[in-house]
Amino acid sequence: MTNFFGITRVREGLLTKEFSAREIASEALRKAGESNAKYNSYISISEELALSLADALDEKIKKGEHLPALAGVPVSIKDALLVKGERCTAGSLMLEDYTAPYDATAVAKIKEAGAVIIGKTNMDEFAMGGSNENSAYGPVKNPRSPERVPGGSSGGSAASVADESAVFSLGSDTGGSIRQPASFCGVTGLKPTYGAVSRHGLIAMASSLDQIGPLARTVEDAEAVFRVISGKDEHDATSMEYNPEENGQELKPLRIGVPKEYFGEGLASAVKKVIEQALERLAKSGAVLLEVELPSTAYALAAYYMINTSEISSNLSRYDGARYGYSAQGQDLFSSYAATRGKGFGNEVKRRIILGTYALSAGYYDAYYVKAQKIRSLIKRDFDRAFEKVDIIAGPVSPVVPFKIGEKVSDPLAMYLVDMYTVPANLAGLPAISVPAGTAEGLPAGLHMIAPAFRENLLFAAGKILQNMQY
Ligand code: GLN
Repeated sequence: MTNFFGITRVREGLLTKEFSAREIASEALRKAGESNAKYNSYISISEELALSLADALDEKIKKGEHLPALAGVPVSIKDALLVKGERCTAGSLMLEDYTAPYDATAVAKIKEAGAVIIGKTNMDEFAMGGSNENSAYGPVKNPRSPERVPGGSSGGSAASVADESAVFSLGSDTGGSIRQPASFCGVTGLKPTYGAVSRHGLIAMASSLDQIGPLARTVEDAEAVFRVISGKDEHDATSMEYNPEENGQELKPLRIGVPKEYFGEGLASAVKKVIEQALERLAKSGAVLLEVELPSTAYALAAYYMINTSEISSNLSRYDGARYGYSAQGQDLFSSYAATRGKGFGNEVKRRIILGTYALSAGYYDAYYVKAQKIRSLIKRDFDRAFEKVDIIAGPVSPVVPFKIGEKVSDPLAMYLVDMYTVPANLAGLPAISVPAGTAEGLPAGLHMIAPAFRENLLFAAGKILQNMQY
């Protein structure tokens, strides 16, 4: 069967009756099976659901009904988002047998728009990680270089788009988990503004940082998905009404801020070169590059891991063996909790619960948690000041190229360092995108662009320029 890749391509094929939605779904399911065998990118493949969604769409087409925005498009969903009636593990043994009782709002919206869900993708346990090696269901291999990690925590999502079993994927990004795997696998990934997309039905890691967003092959496809999933939702009080058209005016020339703090120690020279070349290409297309200062950058990672682990220790207290998922019996209540959580959670999850519980404990709250929140305000202030001078800020997504599977597993601090450029956008609630910029040491590297809140359109505009330039 001919290639169905791309949202517009699927639409054209359906409209001209070149193929049916069922044919696309069957082909995508076959590819997902193949992808899984090679890269372990899926935790579950939802054949029945995919075919029933496709059949319902074919019925509509037969009746001559209008085709919705994502009609027939095969999509994969990170296993942290609930899809009604499907298993949802969040990459954890704790939820190995958990079936979602309802659809996440973002999932309901893409279903409504005609997308065909083909499976749930592999991920780091409860989205904690940057390499997918923390999954209870085994690591994912990077389709561009299978002995290397695909990034994380939405590694399965990025792999499923890179190997073309899904046209797009929904992932979540708490500190880089959409952008970093997108960069590592050579696809586009958007973390929207905090509040632009409802988090209802996303299994929480750190609620003040988590955002749902798309991974896709093109900026156009990521934009189309964003338009479908964004907007206010009564189930998420932090979600906002949002009209992308209103914020759409393109600025000419685009002023791109380049912070020197994003090009310092720790940045691999091969990655630096790709990023500098991408910026030069943007400058050639008419953008103006300006130096900006983000002086609090050096503290972002420390503040992120304080806030992240604190919120984790609170959010994950719900897994007590009584309400959700895995349950182990002990002699008494306490030992039942200990047995359930001891077995159900993996090492990284336990590490973060311990760190967060410590940071929030009475004697240390002011020294750690409150201080981290103060740094968070400073980081936000840095961005506000920079955005008085420039429209967007650009730099690397990851300081390093995709590393070998196993290379960093025994060194959590080295793993955390990989997040140095991605966490500031989450701390400040800003939208940010990774767009393929070229290759470093033969491996994909993305250009990271950050915009003011609710100015995703600037990212799409700049992303399209970069994407459509030859290099
Ligand atoms: N790698 C980061 C972490 O481990 C980001 C994870 C994420 O965005 N879900 O916290």
